[in-house]
Amino acid sequence: MLKASFKKHIFKFNFPGGTSRGVLLEKVSYFLKIWNSEISEIVGLGEVSLIPNLSPETSEQIELLLNEFIQNPNDFVTTKELKNFPALKFGLETALLDLETGAKKILFPSEFTKGKVGIRINGLVWMGTKDEMLQRIKEKIESGFTCIKIKIGAVSFHDEIELLKFIRKSFSVSDIEIRVDANGAFAPAEALSKLEILSKLQLHSIEQPIKQGQWMEMKRLCANTPLPIALDEELIGIADTDKRIQLLETIKPQYIILKPSLIGGLKDSEEWSKLAIKRNIAWWVTSALEGNIGLNAIAQWTFANGSKMPQGLGTGQVFSNNITSPLEIKGEELYYNPQINWQNI
Ligand SMILES: [Mg+2]
Repeated sequence: MLKASFKKHIFKFNFPGGTSRGVLLEKVSYFLKIWNSEISEIVGLGEVSLIPNLSPETSEQIELLLNEFIQNPNDFVTTKELKNFPALKFGLETALLDLETGAKKILFPSEFTKGKVGIRINGLVWMGTKDEMLQRIKEKIESGFTCIKIKIGAVSFHDEIELLKFIRKSFSVSDIEIRVDANGAFAPAEALSKLEILSKLQLHSIEQPIKQGQWMEMKRLCANTPLPIALDEELIGIADTDKRIQLLETIKPQYIILKPSLIGGLKDSEEWSKLAIKRNIAWWVTSALEGNIGLNAIAQWTFANGSKMPQGLGTGQVFSNNITSPLEIKGEELYYNPQINWQNI
């Protein structure tokens, strides 16, 4: 018989986190514990991580479902349809996988979990004023990143182009790969001309130039863009295989970005990745403000399944009350250091 419990954790940002969904000071996760009643010392752990206004589910919905889950975990894991609750699906999947593998938080044993090989990640530059962003970019480059991701669409387009030009003046394409993320900021009518301007700066790619849900406009952009487009928010809420195929075959993006907490977990990420590869669409993985429990599962899965492209896995440092874990960033790589113990939860 399965037993379960959950605990709410409010992560506090080290600095006001400027995101596409406004400025965040804190965000909620729920830690799930699951164990067999006969062996109560082996406890699987998972994280249900929500981003306000981006996750399809609300914390009220999640708390109701979690209360149902702890009443009867066996029924819940075998019969509950969770396709509209991707964060819960991911947290539950992780907790069950951890339980199955002996509750060591080693879900996918590899050279990564042995601490021998790291995962190359991009340095994420948070939104801010031009001066703040410039300072943050310099810090990333100094700490060893060769791929940085910059959120655009926050300050004026003109200022952003100036900022990117400045970076390109100091660092060539062989020094720094630059990815930008518009988070849907461009209007469809102006998007192509903006992509043309951006492409002059030798960028790697742009995430979600226009808002999701405009498949025909996005298809047109992907067919004509001089700058490769990566779909991100577009994948959220597309929970059925048929619909996923339809999306990929209609829009034909250059890349897709897999965020397990937002698209239904690791198995769903695997499905997306296979559907994409079959259609010559490349992909990378990005965490979505999970704490280290969620990030750990994503990182291990990414190492086992991902490409050698830089991944978006560096968000763990933004919280003042993250869970102490073996995850650490050295230079531009995320490592799992087995010498460091997990904090008890
Ligand atoms: Mg994005």
